[in-house]
Amino acid sequence: MATQYIFVTGGVTSSLGKGIICASLGRLLVARGLKVTVQKLDPYINVDPGTMNPYEHGEVYVTDDGAETDLDLGHYERFLNIRTSQVNNVTTGRVYNDVINKERQGAYLGKTVQVIPHITDEIKHKVTLLEEKGDFDVVIVEIGGTVGDIESLPYIEAVRQLRHDLGRQNTLSIHLTLVPYLQAAKELKTKPTQHSVKTLAESGVQPDIIVARASMQLDESIREKIAQFCNVEYEDVIASLDAQSIYEVPMLMREEGLDRRVVQKLNMEAGEPDLDRWIGFVEAIKSPSSEINIALVGKYVEHHDAYKSIIEAFVHAGAVNDCRVHIKWMHSDDITAKNVQEKMSDVSGILVAPGFGGRGINGKLHAVKYARTQKIPFLGICLGMQCAVIEFARNVCGWKKANSTEFDEQSPHPVIDLMHDQRDLDEMGGTMRLGHYKCELKKGTLAHKAYGEKMVTERHRHRYEVNNNLRYKLTENGMVLSGFNPERDLVEIIELKDHPWFVGVQFHPEFSSTVSDPQSLFVDFVKESLKYGKDHDLTRLREEESVVNQ
Ligand code: GLN
Repeated sequence: MATQYIFVTGGVTSSLGKGIICASLGRLLVARGLKVTVQKLDPYINVDPGTMNPYEHGEVYVTDDGAETDLDLGHYERFLNIRTSQVNNVTTGRVYNDVINKERQGAYLGKTVQVIPHITDEIKHKVTLLEEKGDFDVVIVEIGGTVGDIESLPYIEAVRQLRHDLGRQNTLSIHLTLVPYLQAAKELKTKPTQHSVKTLAESGVQPDIIVARASMQLDESIREKIAQFCNVEYEDVIASLDAQSIYEVPMLMREEGLDRRVVQKLNMEAGEPDLDRWIGFVEAIKSPSSEINIALVGKYVEHHDAYKSIIEAFVHAGAVNDCRVHIKWMHSDDITAKNVQEKMSDVSGILVAPGFGGRGINGKLHAVKYARTQKIPFLGICLGMQCAVIEFARNVCGWKKANSTEFDEQSPHPVIDLMHDQRDLDEMGGTMRLGHYKCELKKGTLAHKAYGEKMVTERHRHRYEVNNNLRYKLTENGMVLSGFNPERDLVEIIELKDHPWFVGVQFHPEFSSTVSDPQSLFVDFVKESLKYGKDHDLTRLREEESVVNQ
C-alpha cells in the first residue's frame, strides 16, 4: 500500500489546537494498527526555533537525533508513542537555507531560482523524505500558521501539487476552523469557516474534511450549512469541542467519526481502534485519589508553554501514581532566603527548571537549598541540576564563590564549566550538545532504582557541564554522581546521600515521557512527593490550577 498523506491546515485564527488534532488523529490511526508519523511545517524564517526566546515560541523540543523543534513534536511523540527526527520539522528558514546552499553549489545549472518551482519543490522533497525513512502507512502533515497568511502560500501550493502528484486517492486535506458563538445573536456563526475554505480553495486545495472548533455542540442545521457552503459531505463536518484535557481529544474525535471518515476516504484496510489503555489513562487523570502541589521554579513561568513537556510528564507520572500534580508556578526572581519557607509551605516536591542565563539564579539556589535542607523531594533538570551542584559546592563544600562560568567567568571554583567542544564556536544555532546520549547508571542509586536498568539514553540541550577537575570535592562531601556518559565521562546525574529523593539530571527526562511510557524519574519523583505530602499532611484537595486543564 502506498503511503497516504493527510494535510492539515488551519483557518480563521491561530491557537485552535491543530497540533492536538493531528496528534489525536495520529493516535486513532495507530490504535487501528497503522504505522503513522506526523510532520510539522513552520512558515517562519528561523532555521529552527533553537535560537528563539521561550516567550516567543514556548518550549524548544529536542528529538533523539538532536533537532531543536517546535513543541508540537512533543505532542506527536506523547500521543503516538513514536520517536520523531530532524525531518519531522521543516521551517521556511531551513527550506531557503537548503535551496540557497544548492544554488551556491551550482545545483540549479544556471536557472533562475524561484519560489515556484524551487522552493515548492524543496518543500515537497522534505515532505516525501519521511516516506523513504520510515515505511509509514500514513504521514500526517501539519501546516503551521493560518490560511491566508502570505508566508503560508508556498506550503499550500506544495500541498496542491503533492495532491496532484501523489494522486487524490492517496491524499486527504483536513481544514481546522473556528465556529464562533455570537452572544448578541445567540448563534454559532459559520461565515468565518466559509471564507477560510474559500481562501484555501482559491489556492487550489479543496478540503475533504472540516474540523470545526466550537464552544458548543454543532446542531444539524449548522453542520448542513458548513457542508453545503464548503463543499464537503455532511459526515465530513467534525465538531471539535473544548475538552477538559487534551488527552480526551482522541476520544472526542472518535465519537465524531474523524478516523472512520479518514480510513474510508483513503480506502485503507484498518481494524477498529483499540483505545482501552488510552481510556484507562484518561480516567486515571480525571479522578485520582489524591492531589499534591509541586513547585516549578523557573524564569518563564508566566508562559506555561515554555515548560510544556514538564507539565505533560507530570500528567503521565501522576496517572501512574493515582495522583494529580498541581504545578505551583514560582518565578525564580521572586524567591528569597526570607520568603522561601512560606512559598514552599504547601508543596510536596520542588522542580528547578532548565534555562539559560544568570537572571533568577539566586532564587533557584534558595529553592535548591530549601529542598536539600528540608529533605523535600527534588528534581533539577539541566540548569536546575547545575544549580544543585553550585548550591552544594557553596553551602556544603564551603566554596562560597563556586559558580557556573555561564554566570561568572572569574569564579575561583567553576564547578560548572563550558564543555571543551563548545569553546571555539561562533555560531549559536544548532551548536549545543543536542539529542540523545547514553548514560550509565551506578548500581543502588535512586536513578538506577527508577530506571531499573544499567544503561539508558536521554536527550540533551546544553553547553555547560559539571567540571571534572573539581568533582572530587563534591563526592568528598557526600554528593553521589550516579550517572555518567560512558564515552566522555561526563556527569549526567547527581544525587545526595542523606536525602530521601534528591536528583539532578543534565539531560531532559521530560522529552521522553509519553502516555504509554511515562518517564521513570518523573514517576519516582511524583511517588516520593506523594509520600512526603502524606507524611506532612499536604495532600488536601485543591481546585485551582489543575494540570488537567492545561
Ligand atoms: N544554560 C545551561 C547550559 O547551557 C543549561 C541549559 C538548559 O537548562 N537546557 O548548560
